[in-house]
Amino acid sequence: MTPADVSAAVRPAVLELMDRLRAADHAAYVVGGSLRDLLLRREPHDWDLTTDARPARLQELFPDSLYENAFGTVTVRDADGQAVEITTFRSDHDYADYRRPRRIEFGDRVEDDLARRDFTVNALAWGGPAGQEPALVDPFGGREDVTRQVLRAVGDPAERFGEDALRMLRAVRLAATLGFAIEPATLEAIGRRAQLASHLSGERIAAEIDKLLAARRPSVGLRLMAQTGLLAVVAPELAAQIGVPQNKTPGEDLWDHTLRSVDAAAAAGRDGVVRLAALLHDVGKPATAADGHFYGHEAVGAEVAAALLRRWHLPRDTTDRVERLVRHHMFSYDPSWSDAAVRRFIAKVGMETLDDLFSLREADNVGSGMPRAAGDLAALRGRIAAELASNVVLDRAGLAIDGDDLIATLGLAPGPAIGRLLDRLVERVVAEPRLNERTTLLALARSLAEDG
Ligand code: ATP
Ligand code: MG
Repeated sequence: MTPADVSAAVRPAVLELMDRLRAADHAAYVVGGSLRDLLLRREPHDWDLTTDARPARLQELFPDSLYENAFGTVTVRDADGQAVEITTFRSDHDYADYRRPRRIEFGDRVEDDLARRDFTVNALAWGGPAGQEPALVDPFGGREDVTRQVLRAVGDPAERFGEDALRMLRAVRLAATLGFAIEPATLEAIGRRAQLASHLSGERIAAEIDKLLAARRPSVGLRLMAQTGLLAVVAPELAAQIGVPQNKTPGEDLWDHTLRSVDAAAAAGRDGVVRLAALLHDVGKPATAADGHFYGHEAVGAEVAAALLRRWHLPRDTTDRVERLVRHHMFSYDPSWSDAAVRRFIAKVGMETLDDLFSLREADNVGSGMPRAAGDLAALRGRIAAELASNVVLDRAGLAIDGDDLIATLGLAPGPAIGRLLDRLVERVVAEPRLNERTTLLALARSLAEDG
């Protein structure tokens, strides 16, 4: 890319922000991942600018901007309404907890700002001071590393990972999302310092795993995690799969099967929840392995997966969905299932989980070297659709009576027993939909209550 090509590739609304900074006598540069992506002819998903203007000055120049952090980053809306982060040149000092600097210092030279960045391909800037033609600033050979598709730490890799252990996870994540190789000395340093990842917060780990899973082939990054020892530190539950034999693909272990399943979910374009469920679907196997079987691994796995996701502080809804998917992924359909069995399956899994469960099972099938739809998935889907089309009752809300009716008619006291009674009625109606009629249900409730 020539300088003119770069200029043409920067979004006009971002160029306009740079022009405003330069018109106010400041330097302005596109920097970091946005420039890297642009050089790779990928659309950057966020834009970062860096400047010598201090945060207070930025707020003067952009009165609607937000400045809510200690790191000199001011967020501005460009003419397209998109958020652009403008960060004052800075250097970082006194790393103490393997996570973040205790002290930052604003600077006047773009080179000093680039030196604090993690990888050479992220340590490039394009722009310039007021009155100069914009140009590429590349003190660490990042342009060449972009061309060669290599991730190389800026400076001494072991030292840089000691400052902030997240950089190791960023390396494997970027290797997966960009399809880059990690340069040998950088890779070796990750192996040496992997243990430091134990100091990272769950949120930061989860954010990287989420981005890693969004890659076209997440297995690339996951394998690097396993190989460097990062996996054993951030997810020992998964590292326990390495070397556990399984009978799916000859010569491969349980971890290989997991990776194939995750890649299959990605290849099918599934969302983050299904990819996470694919990663965790067999996490209960190492603990249940006995004589080549893994009895009850899905129930154990659901608990282990939920505990891991809670440790990573994932949103409650995501954790619940993944837990359900892991818990129910072992269903085995048979054409002899009665309609009632199909309805019980829907009620048990939960209507809102069905699509994801089929997606997970397809990924698991592919990961096991079987056809995507193995296990008669299409037939089961058809039967589920037929049941749903006839307005089946699957939960308390669908019953023709409610708790108040039970209290009023049967003279029962309010309390948890009412809920249990309603659940038993749901079970009966799932099995036999014609029972869902007021007088029938009340009579049934009376006899169930009497039987205790
Ligand atoms: P993405 O494609 O996810 O946006 P990115 O490299 O742009 O990847 P950001 O989190 O947007 O990641 O960070 C922007 C830039 O800030 C990076 O390109 C890098 O220059 C710098 N950076 C981010 N995190 C770190 C870190 N932990 N240590 C050093 N530099 C970092
Ligand atoms: Mg970015």
